[in-house]
Amino acid sequence: KVEKLKKLKDLPAITPDGKKVMLAANIGTPKDVKSALANGAEGVGLFRTEFLYMDRTTLPTEEEQFEAYKEVAEKMEGRPVTIRTLDIGGDKELPYLDMPKEMNPFLGYRAIRLCLDRTDIFKTQLRAILRASAYGNIHIMYPMISSVEDVRKANTVLNEVKAELDKEGIKYDKNIKVGIMVEIPSAAITADILAKEVDFFSIGTNDLCQYTLAVDRMNEHVKDYYQPFNPAILRLIKLVIDAAHKEGKFAAMCGEMAGDPLATVILLGLGLDEFSMSATSIPTVKNIIRNVEYERAKEIAERVLNIAEAEKIQKMMEDIIKDIE
Ligand code: PEP
Ligand code: MG
Repeated sequence: KVEKLKKLKDLPAITPDGKKVMLAANIGTPKDVKSALANGAEGVGLFRTEFLYMDRTTLPTEEEQFEAYKEVAEKMEGRPVTIRTLDIGGDKELPYLDMPKEMNPFLGYRAIRLCLDRTDIFKTQLRAILRASAYGNIHIMYPMISSVEDVRKANTVLNEVKAELDKEGIKYDKNIKVGIMVEIPSAAITADILAKEVDFFSIGTNDLCQYTLAVDRMNEHVKDYYQPFNPAILRLIKLVIDAAHKEGKFAAMCGEMAGDPLATVILLGLGLDEFSMSATSIPTVKNIIRNVEYERAKEIAERVLNIAEAEKIQKMMEDIIKDIE
């Protein structure tokens, strides 16, 4: 089976009846590009940039960041690379930043909230990303967006940085795509509003589950409450995909669910355009997609949306993919 999956590397992720989706990789450092390409990733759907800021005593310079982003853009040879701006806070602290002690760090000073407060940090990163965009096909993605105001504020900073670069005569991709993570319930529920202001969505099911189901994604004691197949999550996913498509935008997913073989047929049927996952999951997910009719996936997704219990849905999906060799 492993041999068979390897042969899929250069084949497209297309259903027998011709529905094509994009399978991309999540990466955490430039080193991960090798495995992404070896597993047939058609792009990087999530480049987590926290590694640049962690395990050190000072903020990374613009130059350091530029080199890392450029390296990934170049190695991906024109395939899309979605760089997520800093998602620090929550469980990830930076000792040198003097961050506040918080009762509920996951509901606190984190990600885009920190960046909109510390625009010095944000601008440095955006400059580095924009400069690297001259060397490949880079998209920018903001994490932890909770409202349209977040998007507008972030874009205001982005436009300031673009104006600076223009003034300095530094080149960058003037048509760079800007999207958001949909990982907070308020963003999912207002996806119709947000879709008008962004180029794409990427659904972050890890945080979306945590916040929608009010369950700490790291807490062993409540792990049974952490249910990606909960009808609440599936309905939100549908809402987000439909809202994106209504505005002619693309809908991606970069949470763990995107690489879960039990979710593949449902997400395909709901119309997800891009699945971004750990590189090693790509062959398995691709194999499922290449063996399920899109028409059937749509029927299954519709049926699943009417099932009340997450466990029942998972069992049903186990049966459905069992026959795929
Ligand atoms: C998510 O929340 O689903 C996600 C992809 O982001 P992270 O896991 O980095 O929070
Ligand atoms: Mg997240």
